[in-house]
Amino acid sequence: MAKDYYETLGVGRDASADEIKSAYRKLAKKYHPDMNKGDEGAAQKFKEVNEAYQVLSDDQKRQQYDTFGTADGAGGFGGQGGFGGFEGFGGFGDIFDNIFGGGMRSRPANGPQRGSDIRVNMRLSFEDAAQGIKHDISITRLEACDECGGTGAAPGTERRTCPTCNGTGQERVQQQTMFGSFVNVQPCRTCGGEGTIVDTPCEKCKGKGTVQRQRTISVNIPAGIDNGQVLTMRGEGNVGKRGGPAGDLQIVISVKPHKLFERLGNDLYLDMDITMMQAALGDEVEVPTLDGKVRYKIEAGTQPGTVFRLKNKGIKYLNSSRMGDLYVRANVQIPKKLNERQKKILRDFEDKIRSKDKETTFSKPNDAF
Ligand SMILES: [Zn+2]
Ligand SMILES: [Zn+2]
Repeated sequence: MAKDYYETLGVGRDASADEIKSAYRKLAKKYHPDMNKGDEGAAQKFKEVNEAYQVLSDDQKRQQYDTFGTADGAGGFGGQGGFGGFEGFGGFGDIFDNIFGGGMRSRPANGPQRGSDIRVNMRLSFEDAAQGIKHDISITRLEACDECGGTGAAPGTERRTCPTCNGTGQERVQQQTMFGSFVNVQPCRTCGGEGTIVDTPCEKCKGKGTVQRQRTISVNIPAGIDNGQVLTMRGEGNVGKRGGPAGDLQIVISVKPHKLFERLGNDLYLDMDITMMQAALGDEVEVPTLDGKVRYKIEAGTQPGTVFRLKNKGIKYLNSSRMGDLYVRANVQIPKKLNERQKKILRDFEDKIRSKDKETTFSKPNDAF
């Protein structure tokens, strides 16, 4: 089982960089080996906290961990060397670039490159998360410059093959050392590894080929979404390079708590106060649900803590028509202030159902408290 780094640091999945840093500082101090001499448990904790922080404090690693549940670049694939020289696997390379965060570049430096992802937080009301909603969000992303079509060359001109590297984007540099001479391959310094250069840069994007654009994106939030879930909108992130696909837009959901209902998975929980008399004699009550009040019949002789289940009155399962249930717990209210007349009525009642000499009875509870 992969460790849950968020749990290790005791933060939510939507925690900000600052929250992560402060949680880490506290825990690192608490479990620091200097403060816990000879404590094996603390040493192990210290290691785990550091591991979690290394992943969650690095945007790229964190995103990879959120998506794939691991931040281990070469995990299970037989080490870094395994994929060397797999050029020409266009789509394949993209997948591995995503998984490994570009750490194992096997394609030429000036090949197509996928754009980066954009991550935004969205806070929803309890009802909107339960019932689904369409929400517009405003984001700023890199898009291809519309003036030059993303080439970076002024309109009417074109990029041309870099004369230094002849389009390979790489430069061989001979190095003399005391052990002999070595040839080092590095990105071409003339074109920055692009393989092409621009003679007259586009004025709008200054030759970069990309511009920042503000966009309003319409997001369909599916009914049943919960805290910490991430909606991914493919291709709505930053534009790719040299014909590579755009990155994704990731929307991290957080849900505000409800005044009455507690949500656990797709079920809802509600505490309902009823009087001693309602519990003893039975009654019909109104129970709030997410879609209005429903009438519910309380049986005579209902015991304190009894839980009723209202089927299908919970929250919809994502991508399914199945519904969760609503559980209602009866809290029988014992009156705290009684006047003399009321006390006498209750004493008379007690005398009738219980003979004076009967002992109080005890029994073993069904559940531990
Ligand atoms: Zn341009
Ligand atoms: Zn070049």
